[in-house]
Amino acid sequence: MKSIQSILKVKKELQSVKDSGLSIGFVPTMGFFHKGHLKLMEEAKKENDLAVVSIFVNPTQFGEGEDFGKYPRDLKRDQEMAESAGVDIVFNPSAEDIYLDGLQTEIAVSKLSSVLCGKNRKGHFTGVATVVAKLLNIVEPDKAYFGLKDYQQYLIVCQMVKDLNINVNIVGVPTVRDEDGLAASSRNIYLAYDEREEALILYECLKKAQRLLDGGIRNTSQIKKVLKEMLDLKNLVTLEYLEIVNKDTLEAVENIENQALVAIAAKVGKARLIDNMVIG
Ligand code: AMP
Repeated sequence: MKSIQSILKVKKELQSVKDSGLSIGFVPTMGFFHKGHLKLMEEAKKENDLAVVSIFVNPTQFGEGEDFGKYPRDLKRDQEMAESAGVDIVFNPSAEDIYLDGLQTEIAVSKLSSVLCGKNRKGHFTGVATVVAKLLNIVEPDKAYFGLKDYQQYLIVCQMVKDLNINVNIVGVPTVRDEDGLAASSRNIYLAYDEREEALILYECLKKAQRLLDGGIRNTSQIKKVLKEMLDLKNLVTLEYLEIVNKDTLEAVENIENQALVAIAAKVGKARLIDNMVIG
């Protein structure tokens, strides 16, 4: 496995890969790997000749007062884990290299970014879309892998690639969970024992929504009422949003016809956690 920091060097390395007709699977990340990241890397390696993973804690997608400075980082551990997942190249550019003297161009995927996490995290998805576009232009992969745990991000990347005719296939990978059901996340490290116990309510709510729908309750206000009552019982969990929306457009749904996306964001201690499930 190679570790490359320079944009020029990674481009040169990948050009020779492309010249020899090999396919590239790309996994953009912010590092501090867990089994969710590893799943993406394994998929990338399985479906392509070469797997490339980027590690870049992107400053422009963090808002003021968010955890950019404290975001967990451990390059050596990440390199070892990436190697064990079969990754061929770890690309870890510096912010100076990515942003040079600052950017004048930004990519805003307007409608999909205006709801759910986009409501409270102004500018977050513009930061994400812009850096993902830059990384896709640097790596020029055949396929790029994104976790459905960040469902809104996945939809936004799909839309951006379509709108800008970027020549890549976006692959969504199902959420990887710990044994207790908590979605794997780099931010789970912030959770104290009792906070982690209470954080399990997020997944419990998603499963409950599915059961309610299975039981014939299609009205989303009714479903949300039950879930909010469950969340209210957890003192360490502060709900940011609980929404049931169209899984393609993220528009609110009143009565579920076939499928819908249940999306939750909550603060548990210092950690802001998100989770979601397509029900129906
Ligand atoms: P991050 O490093 O948090 O920016 O995540 C990098 C990629 O890993 C994104 O595409 C995430 O959606 C994906 N990811 C994060 N957590 C999980 C998980 N639990 N299951 C599947 N994919 C995940």
